[in-house]
Amino acid sequence: MFIISSKNSLLKAQREGYAVPAFNIHNLETLQVVVETASDMRAPLIVAGTPGTFASAGTDNLLALAAEMARHYNHPLAVHLDHHETLQDIQNKIMAGARSAMIDGSHLPFEENVALVKSVTAFCHRYDASVEAELGRLGGQEDDRVVGDNDALYTDPAQARDFVEQTGIDALAVAIGTAHGFYHAEPRLDFARLAAIRAAVEVPLVLHGASGLSAADIQKAISLGICKVNVATELKVAFSTGLKRYFHDHPDACDPRHYMQPAKAAMKEVVRQVIHRCGCEGKL
Ligand SMILES: [Zn+2]
Repeated sequence: MFIISSKNSLLKAQREGYAVPAFNIHNLETLQVVVETASDMRAPLIVAGTPGTFASAGTDNLLALAAEMARHYNHPLAVHLDHHETLQDIQNKIMAGARSAMIDGSHLPFEENVALVKSVTAFCHRYDASVEAELGRLGGQEDDRVVGDNDALYTDPAQARDFVEQTGIDALAVAIGTAHGFYHAEPRLDFARLAAIRAAVEVPLVLHGASGLSAADIQKAISLGICKVNVATELKVAFSTGLKRYFHDHPDACDPRHYMQPAKAAMKEVVRQVIHRCGCEGKL
């Protein structure tokens, strides 16, 4: 079993000044693309799934595939529970073999968020599983939850310090102007806020909603303490665009061994670019 926690790879990234990409996967093919590419580039890798993804593909199926690929490529993998919302759901998946979780109580009032996250760290740390939590609130859509622009809230640095101290989390997801999904207008990230959060807390910081961010923005965020970069939408779009193009050109295609290839190739190119932007090639 080579399914690991995210903790050590994020601490190494923090010490050495790069970020570990967390790629949202959905099935055999998308898992193959991220593991094969990261393995080729000897890059550390977190494979992430939302509750909806685990429900769709089967938690045991995804964990078994990831464990086998980790063994085959001699590439330790963290299977990360992205945007999970209950202790029970996380408990079930840690018991199934996952060792990296995000508990998302960002929609709750501060004290309730703290209480929920504390209950998750108390459980996960007994199993050497790492815990990420979010303070502030990203706009956009993640799984089935939609947050309007007016409900998005930036992370407060002083509150972040209290939050990390009270909860004992291993990584903090920050809201500094990114959003889930693609951007309708050029995103403007609040780098001064990110620097203030970095000064206030010691744990690795996580950037959600990195699809569509420029390489320069990602690199600047890494220089200011981001150690994990989450990418989901950009991968889905590349995969489905490759697939649609193939069917457009080959309307009679019916063999998944053929039509999946251009979809995987298109997604692979995005994975390569993100690994480059994260500066983590050769860092495994
Ligand atoms: Zn996210």
